[in-house]
Amino acid sequence: MAMMELVGKIMDYGEICDHCLGRLFGKRGHGLTNDERGRALRIAHTMERNIPYSPAGDGCCICRGLFSTLDEWVERTIQALEGFEYRTFIIGTRVPPMLAENEEMIWSDLHLSDAEPLNAEVNREVGKRLERRTGKKAKMDRPDVVAILDIPRGCVEVQVNPVFIRGRYVKLERGIPQTRWPCRECGGSGCPRCHQTGKMYPDSVEELIGRHVKACFSAEDAILHGGGREDIDALMLGEGRPFVMEVVKPRIRIRDLSTLQEEINRAEAGRISVVLTGYAERADVREVKAERMMKRYRVTVEIEGPISPGEIKRAISSLRGATIRQRTPMRVSHRRADLIRERRVLGIVLVEGGQNRCILEILGEAGLYIKELITGDTGRTRPSLSELLGRQCNVIELDVVEVLRSLEGSVIANNKKV
Ligand SMILES: [Zn+2]
Ligand SMILES: [Zn+2]
Repeated sequence: MAMMELVGKIMDYGEICDHCLGRLFGKRGHGLTNDERGRALRIAHTMERNIPYSPAGDGCCICRGLFSTLDEWVERTIQALEGFEYRTFIIGTRVPPMLAENEEMIWSDLHLSDAEPLNAEVNREVGKRLERRTGKKAKMDRPDVVAILDIPRGCVEVQVNPVFIRGRYVKLERGIPQTRWPCRECGGSGCPRCHQTGKMYPDSVEELIGRHVKACFSAEDAILHGGGREDIDALMLGEGRPFVMEVVKPRIRIRDLSTLQEEINRAEAGRISVVLTGYAERADVREVKAERMMKRYRVTVEIEGPISPGEIKRAISSLRGATIRQRTPMRVSHRRADLIRERRVLGIVLVEGGQNRCILEILGEAGLYIKELITGDTGRTRPSLSELLGRQCNVIELDVVEVLRSLEGSVIANNKKV
């Protein structure tokens, strides 16, 4: 069907605005807005029929006048975004099903294949006006904020994308879990057992860092994604454990991280400390969690029965470089698959020796269970220090002193005393 014939048939549906008329041919004629396309088609149609020109009126059988309210939507969007710092945005539109149906009917009746859907034009047109009004940039990929124009409800919904911060933390106090741990009794709603806090432990590394991050970015929440985790009772020393902090619904997006770092380290002195290394992306969360890192541990071991220094040294040298077969430890078997894993002891040194007690430093491959390497876990881990000494050994204290990505630069890799 010739284009002017189609335009005539479209006009038979009833009054139509230039936006909607032009959008039915939206993929034709590059560099025009739908509004311009529509007006051109209306003029061409008038001339072909040789009838008096009448511009589009307020009514429209497709959008019901939506396009005459775009400036109001821009205003609503600006209001909804007020108080949020952002550089980039994207507009989304929820179109009333009736309006979508109006245009889809015409597409299929007239076999139109060059039409653009209504929401695409609203997104673009409101986006352009918002750019002009605010000086911010529309960006498809990972914008700072998303504004959803909810046409049926007459309001704008704002989704603020998180800010991500990369860093490392050191934990200097025992008994602090890495992340919030909801109370087992009540699941977090609050009960007598947890003194109505909803938590198993009053603090976590996540909260000790997060409370400052939340305040700094005026955010709703702060979620810690750690590169592995240490036991609640273990310290995390040395350079610290890498993490990415997800700042949820921040009102402020750019802050001086060195000031924030100082504030955290001052306020939480003696409990944790952090190094904030920079801003990150969502992809870095997956990366930091997936990284398989080696850890250097310091273990205080208690040995049942007196032992000579020679015996300890012999046991240690046969563990050095050994591949350890570990059946999933008893203490975690209720929540992990029962498997036998093989992990290497990359380095081990005696830091301090006594008759019943010694301090060891062990560099383990990612996934090596250190407690079980010492105790033997009733024969589930082999070889173990207990097995080699022929005496039961128990772990008194276990700390992570270093998290490493490679052996390079590690003191213990050469099995030298630290
Ligand atoms: Zn319209
Ligand atoms: Zn509780």
